[in-house]
Amino acid sequence: MSGARIEEKLFQNRYLVDAGRPHIKVRAHAVPSPALRALVHACPANCYSETDTGAVEVATDGCMECGTCRVLTQATGEIEWSYPRGGFGVLYKFG
Ligand code: SF4
Repeated sequence: MSGARIEEKLFQNRYLVDAGRPHIKVRAHAVPSPALRALVHACPANCYSETDTGAVEVATDGCMECGTCRVLTQATGEIEWSYPRGGFGVLYKFG
């Protein structure tokens, strides 16, 4: 086992943006639920952010497809989640 840190290993992954076809969308809302707001801190790729008006938005670049946001908002239905098209999204490098 090498002594590489997790950040160094993650850095080896690459992400291919499918321009104009984000695989996660936040449904329009005035006030985010606590679950949706929690994603601003819970997403490991920092894809979620809060806007000036207090809504939550997503930018899927760098998404690791971990599913955390899908699970956390399952009950509220605030996001639409699907896997990226083949060849797009995160490209994991193993080893
Ligand atoms: S699937 Fe994981 S990495 Fe991707 S946006 Fe959701 S929480 Fe973030």
